Amino acid sequence: MEHGLNRREFLGVAGAAVATASQAARGGEAVAAQRPPNFIVIFTDDQGYQDLGCFGSPDIKTPCIDKMAAEGTRFTDFHVAACVCTPSRAALLTGCYPQRVSLPNVLFPGSKVGISDKETTLAELLKARGYATTCIGKWHLGHLPPFLPTRHGFDSYLGIPYSNDMTVDPTMEVADDVKWNGGMTLEKMRKDKPIRHGVPLFRGEKVVEYPVDQATLVTRYTEEAVKFITASKDKPFFLYLPHNMPHVPLFVSERFKGKSKRGLYGDVIEEIDWSTGQILDTVRKLGLAENTCVVYTSDNGPWLIMGRNGGSALPLRDGKGTTWEGGMREPCVMWWPGRIPAGKTCAEFAATLDILPTFAKLAGAEVPKDRIIDGKDISPLMSGAEGAKSPTEAFFYYRGYGLEAVRSGKWKLHLARKTGGGKAKAAQERPAELYDLEADISEKNNVAAANPDVVKRLEELAERCREDIGDANRGTTGKNRRPCGTA
Ligand code: MG
Repeated sequence: MEHGLNRREFLGVAGAAVATASQAARGGEAVAAQRPPNFIVIFTDDQGYQDLGCFGSPDIKTPCIDKMAAEGTRFTDFHVAACVCTPSRAALLTGCYPQRVSLPNVLFPGSKVGISDKETTLAELLKARGYATTCIGKWHLGHLPPFLPTRHGFDSYLGIPYSNDMTVDPTMEVADDVKWNGGMTLEKMRKDKPIRHGVPLFRGEKVVEYPVDQATLVTRYTEEAVKFITASKDKPFFLYLPHNMPHVPLFVSERFKGKSKRGLYGDVIEEIDWSTGQILDTVRKLGLAENTCVVYTSDNGPWLIMGRNGGSALPLRDGKGTTWEGGMREPCVMWWPGRIPAGKTCAEFAATLDILPTFAKLAGAEVPKDRIIDGKDISPLMSGAEGAKSPTEAFFYYRGYGLEAVRSGKWKLHLARKTGGGKAKAAQERPAELYDLEADISEKNNVAAANPDVVKRLEELAERCREDIGDANRGTTGKNRRPCGTA
């Protein structure tokens, strides 16, 4: 069996025979009746498609993640639902396009909105199934109290509430034992102009360090993660670990400084690789490997403009902030010994949108039925089931509320739209461009003229999406958007 376990075996319970057809049909519930699997999601920030050894990096060494890939499956057509931080996280945790939950743009320290308490996050779904849950790292779904991780299904939280290049909201609640760095005081924090790139570290709902020493964060997140896994070993757990690296400004601990051939960005990735190794080793040592599903991916592509974090999305076109593949296709590795086949590559389309319905299925949790959830169950792809195909008919690439591209099968259509129109020059009508991603992963050869039927079909899919969740480029808001939370 080249591809390892089939779907029934995958969904069944290790050791215990999945005896009857009805049990097999119940799939995830059969697992859940015993003990639901643990889930770990390691979500880096602005990492390029090529920036892992197992995804072809020529000069960044990632032995731990490469080993994870050798013991698990690489997903080479894996996507996030936004090209920047906040919306990408909204999609991961709700299973919905960020436009549907009205979080299409990056939030800032002055933002008064965040994730709605009417949404059911992945953490809430799992918590309702008895999971211990924690979020360690960058949240970025609203920093005001109603939006923090602890209000959205996570038992605990340690991390920075938004991007590491932001500042502080002077109104934030501060813990009694807060650690002030660089001569900071409560009075200064409340009254002075915020420090550039000075961000607060939260524990729970309060600031515990400001400005946080960012060079220590990967180490501290890792220690916190190991502690959480160890403390939770006797019940199912969900560890969400959204690193704030390698988003600029880049920081790395002394141990990894100058170690990579790729400069500071490479050092940072190599430290995250070490962290991933520590987490997997903890899972192995505790004897939890066969009951723990680990996903490693990033929130969007490398920051090539402005910040230039030093990442590479090659062979994909462009990077963060764009709807080219480099902005939204991410390296992804999934690991679950005995359940996800070892050393395999899955080239089927999948997305972070799919994580919520898939984990819910595997945990025997209920996906909300009173609203649209965009993601699909991809457990057959994860199990390497023979002939398993992507369940996604169409995928939509947005920037803000503007729909820019649609994917179906191997085809990706960048939609015709007006671009530019600043003071210097008039808006230009940019014609539609069609790419065959199987033959042309770098989106170099526009084949729209030769495939009018494909263009028409993808335009019809786009039109359906415009009616559903809208398209600012056409002035439509869609009929199925739900409001975000407001403070
Ligand atoms: Mg990001």
